[in-house]
Amino acid sequence: MTTSPVISPAVTPEQEAALLASVPSGLLIGGQWRNASDGGTFDVSDPATGEVLATLASATSEDALAALDAAEKAQASWERTAPRERAEILRRAFDLVTARAEDFALLMTLEMGKPLAEARGEVTYGAEFLRWFSEETVRDYGRYLTTPEGKNKILVQKKPVGPCLLITPWNFPLAMATRKVAPAVAAGCTMVLKPAKLTPLTAQVFAQTMLDAGLPAGVLNVVSSSSASGISGPLLADPRLRKLSFTGSTPVGKGLMADAAQNVLRTSMELGGNAPFIVFEDADLDQAVEGAMAAKMRNMGEACTAANRFLVQESVAAEFTQKFAAAMAELATGRGTEPDSQVGPLIDAGARDDVHALVSAAVDAGATALTGGSPEAGAGYFYPPTVLGDVPNDAEILRQEIFGPVAPVTTFSTEEDAIRLANASEYGLASYIYSRDFNRLIRVAEQIEFGMVGFNAGVISNAAAPFGGVKHSGLGREGGSEGIAEYTTTQYIGIADPYAP
Ligand code: NAD
Repeated sequence: MTTSPVISPAVTPEQEAALLASVPSGLLIGGQWRNASDGGTFDVSDPATGEVLATLASATSEDALAALDAAEKAQASWERTAPRERAEILRRAFDLVTARAEDFALLMTLEMGKPLAEARGEVTYGAEFLRWFSEETVRDYGRYLTTPEGKNKILVQKKPVGPCLLITPWNFPLAMATRKVAPAVAAGCTMVLKPAKLTPLTAQVFAQTMLDAGLPAGVLNVVSSSSASGISGPLLADPRLRKLSFTGSTPVGKGLMADAAQNVLRTSMELGGNAPFIVFEDADLDQAVEGAMAAKMRNMGEACTAANRFLVQESVAAEFTQKFAAAMAELATGRGTEPDSQVGPLIDAGARDDVHALVSAAVDAGATALTGGSPEAGAGYFYPPTVLGDVPNDAEILRQEIFGPVAPVTTFSTEEDAIRLANASEYGLASYIYSRDFNRLIRVAEQIEFGMVGFNAGVISNAAAPFGGVKHSGLGREGGSEGIAEYTTTQYIGIADPYAP
């Protein structure tokens, strides 16, 4: 049976307006949407046009503390709620997000810029955390054993860590929220969520969806704000808060870890990356180019997992680079709501200028722009897909997180060289290796210092896998069976010999 291709109709301005009108504009505190205590607001704009999409209440420090109050009050009954009931709330949330997939996708495209097809992919990925953790909720085992001496007993149980502050970035507005909220719900923690001010609309609708799924008042509180530190400062200083889970840049993460140290808070830190994409001469080059496109262009390169350094063995470098540049040059740039758009705008003017500064410096240092290389004129913060050849090994662009659709290619001669270059970074999040030699893949994976490695695969994120980094890329893991452990604490109960007379 043949099926005809699905042609997405263009989104109409009326559809956009109706969706935006449905977004709650307040703060969610104790199950109620309300205004900021000082009446303050902030605007959310479309990066493709610069136009204001919506105006939201901007939480103050006082609102943040009211949210923590609500979370703390809800904690005791929430943690006694049956795991099955928590699981079913998550499962209903999965069904609701999936049923509203088109709305979530369009909202993310509007506020963040990614093309609709990618936004739909994020809905699938983001919703999966709700389903995965609904399944994990009822399987968070403790243990019981006899001491080695053979008399006393050891009982180990998991308990929820308590009220959590969840801070999310702008690049994956739904998935970064579900990746934290779902395991916190599974573990029985209450939460204060602070989404990025550039893309809070998706989180607002997601929070309402959690309420619709039956989440009790006060378990999830949302304090969107134009002042991130005005929210995190008082919350991290308050002893009722028990955990910080942060996804964002390494410099901000380091500052928050220092603040969190004052109350010895549990922390999960998902920080920046500088992923190497290593292509050996025995790789299937067409497969490597396809993987390179996915690893580079997902989210216009605005992903912590984005391939940031293409390390290609000398003998195949020319062929790989030429094929890669040809494929990148084919991509269509445009507002994410346009049916044929494959590359949306970058998040703001600063992001676009930073990307271009890295490209210009690399070209000045001897690199060649094989495609792209300068910002596009006109409205929106568009930057064309760019491939840079002959990038010197010490170029700044290989050291910094690019966060844009730019692929610098550099070469290596031996396996040892590739490992040394890959490890020459303070970051250690995602990495990608292309080779047909399985033993080589294993050897390299064992020696590179990265939390995640893709073998002949350009996209490795999965709700069932432990996502996270080493070195300056962070601490802790999200997803997998590890994800729930970030929200539990271990209590050991020592039991005296039950056979003692
Ligand atoms: P960012 O660090 O600027 O902001 C992240 C969040 O922190 C936002 O909610 C922001 O409002 C808040 N924030 C900013 N300054 C703060 C402060 N002083 N105090 C308290 N909160 C503050 O990062 P971003 O630009 O939103 O996101 C991009 C970064 O996130 C990249 O470095 C990317 O690699 C990283 N990231 C990491 C992962 C991962 O899983 N490791 C996933 C996505 C993004």
